[in-house]
Amino acid sequence: MTPTSYFPHKNNEMFVEDIALSQIASQIQTPFYCYSSAAIEASFQEYQNAFDNQDALVCYAVKANSNQAVLTTLAQMGSGADVVSMGEIRRAIAAGIPANKIVYSGVAKTQEEIEYALSLGIFQFNVESEPELELISQVASAVNSTAAIAFRINPDVCAQTHAKISTGKAENKFGIPISKAQIAYARAAELPGIKVQGVDVHIGSQLTSLAPFAEAYGRIAELVKTLKADGHDINVIDVGGGLGITYQDEVIPSKQAYADMVKEQLGELGCKIVLEPGRSLLGNAGILVSSVVFIKTGEERQFLMLDAGMNDLIRPSMYEAYHQIIAVNQNNRELKPYDVVGPVCETGDTFAKARQVHQSNSGDLIAIMSSGAYGAVMSSSYNTRMLTPEVMVKGNEFAIIRNRPSYEELIKQDIKPNWL
Ligand SMILES: *Cc1c(COP(=O)(O)O)cnc(C)c1O
Repeated sequence: MTPTSYFPHKNNEMFVEDIALSQIASQIQTPFYCYSSAAIEASFQEYQNAFDNQDALVCYAVKANSNQAVLTTLAQMGSGADVVSMGEIRRAIAAGIPANKIVYSGVAKTQEEIEYALSLGIFQFNVESEPELELISQVASAVNSTAAIAFRINPDVCAQTHAKISTGKAENKFGIPISKAQIAYARAAELPGIKVQGVDVHIGSQLTSLAPFAEAYGRIAELVKTLKADGHDINVIDVGGGLGITYQDEVIPSKQAYADMVKEQLGELGCKIVLEPGRSLLGNAGILVSSVVFIKTGEERQFLMLDAGMNDLIRPSMYEAYHQIIAVNQNNRELKPYDVVGPVCETGDTFAKARQVHQSNSGDLIAIMSSGAYGAVMSSSYNTRMLTPEVMVKGNEFAIIRNRPSYEELIKQDIKPNWL
């Protein structure tokens, strides 16, 4: 799937599935996120097809995009959820994802969160440290319950991705070092309220090659054999998320190639495979739609000043991420180099430098592609700009799936102390 697969140009105009984007923009003020439901379904189905000869459960990584419309679309296709907070558990349940398809990751789960997850009977806790294991045991024993656990193993593999989204090196905060795994599992086996059921690994995000995965899963396979020999009943391997998407021109291995590699590395162990994809399900299913406010001619360059900023989509400023930037109406205009910037008072509020975009004017619509994952969920109201609304398209229909709040609602959240 490319950034434009579900956002094609027809007669010089960008469509989302069967609707012209300009038609949506005439009814909802920019900036807004716009998702293609067909794109989400297609990506999910690719995983289902790729793993149809393995005992596998896709647990969508809710943090990539946690809108109820997105979660419900995936829930109806049979997806489970990988969650990292009580809030995400609540969102998953509200969208109809059954508790027995929820895996719970995260390095600092609190007692309250553990109690809540236990009370629902989630499928698995992915335990990231020994102190977390002790806490889960205490909480579970206190309520006469049992927590099914896997340790998240840090395999010390370089994911060859951006440093801020690399998680599987020894220096990262995630998981238990693979060298300490046997001790950790031995401890888990003797604790009350704990049932050892699996092994979990997640080495990073936006991986563009299978090699780091294969290396990590190879190490996990060895570990699983060792743990089984130690007498542990390991029947789940959670292989994490991380398969990348095409933002620019990256060539991403197919989901089938990924599935075949998983089978090759782990197939002989007879374990259920849990997958936690986020970006690869949502990334190219969404765009951020904005309008040109001004064209400003600087001393050396032309700035395309948009009404969307880093508060709406933080990936370029946070990870130097590349997003294609495309004029919605092209009308045979020529391409020109622009610095594409937002309205926020930070130099980092820059989407792209010297980027070729069709010659544009004030009021023109601009699409920032590949924004379906880690876009809306990371947005804020910095500069007191309203949280970006979200729209979902299905065929020739669209629906607002999150409203833009009003200024009154935002300001009303503040409370003046009684001495003022
Ligand atoms: C972020 C995350 C994922 C999803 O990663 P993607 O790269 O979006 O597929 C899966 N599992 C865990 C534990 C994560 O932290």
